[in-house]
Amino acid sequence: MTYRAPVDDILFALKTAAGLDEMIEAGTVTVDEDTVRAVIDEAGKFASAVLDPLNVPGDRTGSRLVGGVVETPEGWKEAYRAFSEGGWASLAADESIGGQGLPEMVSMATSEIWNAANMGFGLCPLLTQGAIDAIKAHGSDELKATYLPNMVSGRWTGTMNLTEPQAGSDLGHLRTKAVPQPDGTYRITGTKIFITYGDHELTENIIHLVLARLPDAPPGTRGISLFVVPKILVTADGSLGPRNDVVCASLEHKLGIHASPTCVMKYGESGEGAVGYLVGEENRGLNVMFIMMNAARLAVGVQGVAIAERATQRAVAYAQERKQGRSAKGKAGEMSPIIEHADIRRNLMTMKAMTQAARAICLVTAAELDKAHVAQDEAARRAALDRAALLTPVAKAFSTDIGVEVASIGVQVHGGMGFIEETGAAQHYRDARILPIYEGTNGIQAIDLLTRKLPLEGGKVVEAYIAELAKTAEEVRASNRPEFGLMGERLTQAVAALAEASRWMGQALRDDTERALAGAQPYLRLFGFTAGGIYLARGALAVVRAGAAAGPGAGINPRIALARYFAENHAVEAAALKDAIVTGGEATLLLEPEVLAE
Ligand SMILES: Cc1cc2nc3c(=O)[nH]c(=O)nc-3n(C[C@H](O)[C@H](O)[C@H](O)COP(=O)(O)OP(=O)(O)OC[C@H]3O[C@@H](n4cnc5c(N)ncnc54)[C@H](O)[C@@H]3O)c2cc1C
Repeated sequence: MTYRAPVDDILFALKTAAGLDEMIEAGTVTVDEDTVRAVIDEAGKFASAVLDPLNVPGDRTGSRLVGGVVETPEGWKEAYRAFSEGGWASLAADESIGGQGLPEMVSMATSEIWNAANMGFGLCPLLTQGAIDAIKAHGSDELKATYLPNMVSGRWTGTMNLTEPQAGSDLGHLRTKAVPQPDGTYRITGTKIFITYGDHELTENIIHLVLARLPDAPPGTRGISLFVVPKILVTADGSLGPRNDVVCASLEHKLGIHASPTCVMKYGESGEGAVGYLVGEENRGLNVMFIMMNAARLAVGVQGVAIAERATQRAVAYAQERKQGRSAKGKAGEMSPIIEHADIRRNLMTMKAMTQAARAICLVTAAELDKAHVAQDEAARRAALDRAALLTPVAKAFSTDIGVEVASIGVQVHGGMGFIEETGAAQHYRDARILPIYEGTNGIQAIDLLTRKLPLEGGKVVEAYIAELAKTAEEVRASNRPEFGLMGERLTQAVAALAEASRWMGQALRDDTERALAGAQPYLRLFGFTAGGIYLARGALAVVRAGAAAGPGAGINPRIALARYFAENHAVEAAALKDAIVTGGEATLLLEPEVLAE
């Protein structure tokens, strides 16, 4: 079953949730709608023709370490060359460094497409983009001139080296060392684990961004610096020089994304250390890395949308073919396609509605980054950055949880064949499972939302956001459209639950932090359900405004149906989640760790 990019759905989310039309009108986005559609459409064609056919074989072969060099699966090298030659590696980068200067939201839309067609492949440009962002924001002019053009063109790729065996979520304990040299460079020694695309033969050079600690650095996160460490050293005239002292020591064997090499990287194994160049200031590396991590967190959220979309397409196709039982409308003596059974219809509605809700949240977050990028004054820039900061953990965690849930439902729709590898449903489920773990686990995202994002501007950022959600819920309710069913009421209740939970959390963070933290994950989910429901409702309102409420035949427009389904079947969980947060925390903490361990 070939992947087909959901061009109309993506464009619809860009217009009705992310505000593409208004942004074009305001000059925030300088390309027109036709161009945006053309880019997404072309990306879809490339993904279907080049990346999708490599997805299953790539999963079966995986990447391999042969003689100290990582070999990606057959066809990867040619696909990567076609990807960079097609200009796909540089969509969002500034034109001044060889990029195409397209909005972040268009770049995220194409990122969904690469990752839906082939997540193992899509990870490579995803991390390169994060590395570009970090060098661009904090690198010296020399670093920018040396590395950015080749990374933007796709000639070199980038990696992110944070994790060490004893330092995962808690980077304050990392031990990799950086020793300053008289010539202004640093010598890096240490071991990093789980490094995605840490080595490969797709490009002639790999630019590692490495977190390390100076000899006199203060302990904890305030003593971490960031370095560019190229695999091959670059000479003064820009040509490639000798090999740097960095190697891939081994590859991990994983549940999914087999094609994406996950490397143990050794720095400075055979000498005085790998040569590194400081990015930003000494001991301020984590701040710089956060630029990269925030971009990457949104992009990982988009991977959740991608895998959900792919799993949905596969499940819909299977449900049309597979016949079992007789549906309510089935002919006597004949088996019906399972898509006619009410329970399968519910599954498919859930898959579609969840995917579209998560897509909207991610594209709205990207739109805020675009607004910040072109803001004319500091207040507007700050407001957009705060909104993006608030939504980033939701985009990452809600969308990746959805990715796993939807992929799991996809397996279920296939019945026993879902458990058998040949249908492809199982691969999506296996691939999806990493998404809630890397780029900061979803537990860490929920804590970030609670402890760093809720308090932004004394709580005003979240309050303003919830007020906007409430306005849409009221608009839906006041519209009194019969085809909206209980959508207005349900969304009003969800927004009220989010507002109450936010107030409660604000107080609990001051009075009883542990109780607040116990409710962090349900709070993030409540946030996601409410925001997602509202964005789908904005789509439904837009459909009505366009006079298109009626769908094919005598039916209802599918976008209204999905928005209503989400509100009546999923946004209703908001009230229960609020209760779990407000009244469930005490029970969560009843058993002390030593009792839990028994
Ligand atoms: C396939 C793959 C690719 C990866 N790619 C990269 C990469 O390219 N670069 C890179 O640097 N890293 C990469 N990682 C590492 C990844 O980012 C980490 O695995 C992740 O951040 C979690 O760290 P950990 O595995 O040490 O888990 P731990 O930090 O040990 O966490 C274990 C559990 O404890 C929870 N937990 C931890 N601390 C807290 C706390 N304070 N409060 C509440 N709960 C807590 C976590 O949520 C989690 O559920 C990759 C990992 C994998 C598996």
